Amino acid sequence: MSKELAIAVNNLSKVYKSSSDNAKLALDDISLNIKKGSIFGLLGPNGAGKSTFINILADLAKKTSGKIEVLGINHEKNLISAKKLMGIVPQELNIDPFFTPYELLEIQAGLYGIGKKDRKTMEILQMLALEDKAKAYARTLSGGMRRRLLIAKAMVHDPEILILDEPTAGVDVELRSNLWENIHKLNQNGKTIIITTHYLHEAEELCNEIAIINEGKLIANDTTNNIKSFLDKMTVIVDYYDNNFDLSELNKLNLDIQIKDMQIHIKYKPSEVNFNAMLNAVNSTSSQIKDMKIIETKLEDVFLQLTQK
Ligand code: ADP
Ligand code: MG
Repeated sequence: MSKELAIAVNNLSKVYKSSSDNAKLALDDISLNIKKGSIFGLLGPNGAGKSTFINILADLAKKTSGKIEVLGINHEKNLISAKKLMGIVPQELNIDPFFTPYELLEIQAGLYGIGKKDRKTMEILQMLALEDKAKAYARTLSGGMRRRLLIAKAMVHDPEILILDEPTAGVDVELRSNLWENIHKLNQNGKTIIITTHYLHEAEELCNEIAIINEGKLIANDTTNNIKSFLDKMTVIVDYYDNNFDLSELNKLNLDIQIKDMQIHIKYKPSEVNFNAMLNAVNSTSSQIKDMKIIETKLEDVFLQLTQK
């Protein structure tokens, strides 16, 4: 398999068997590749199977079937080697409240057998803007600081791949942008980043590749731009000074037109519609144009389309 892949997943399925006879198919035959060096977003609504996927990678849940390779290493046969390549930040903010960030990272380094001389505890705390809190009890840390501490903990063994399950849940807006900066910095330093989120705008801003899962099924996996162009749809909103519209020219074109008060909303497929012809038609409505804006398709629209039954 290619060295270019951080993670290769083939036909991964997970069934949770509960005590009664109702089994839950949480992952349904998922195959996807995550490129080395990318910021990869795993998107899906609550219950889609995102944490199940991450927990299988972290060895917190057992897959039912399928194959996973981490930088070419078989996740099942060489689990310990595969795990060393990943730093995983779980969704829950579980931190032992009686240790300081400094102590927690030192304990983690010990668990990975990293010798005292090779530890980079303060460097990692600095990178995540926690150096001032190095000696503070973890229970005094805010939600955002706890999240960053968990990231710091996942970085202790200098993994190639950093995986964050819903990293911005419970993090306020300011810390969120700080967190993104840190994630970008790590990515620029060569780390592959995988994040799960149910906030589409986050994935849209941060990720260069996206997989969308819904009810355990993979429904899209492509570059963020390709996914957005999936619908091949744009909207033009034209503001006029009045609404005595003459729509005869517009109606000649293959457009989806809606009149909203003194606005005309035009949905069109860029691949099919000549933009100039549309502009001319917009100009020949015999009303005076006040303003005009073009709205790109949002990932949100694609998501709704893909997950609608
Ligand atoms: P997400 O992280 O996308 O919100 P999860 O992976 O947590 O989704 O859950 C996927 C589905 O599997 C959900 O229907 C959830 O109820 C179910 N599930 C998750 N964990 C367990 C478990 N330990 N036992 C049984 N069902 C589970
Ligand atoms: Mg989850």
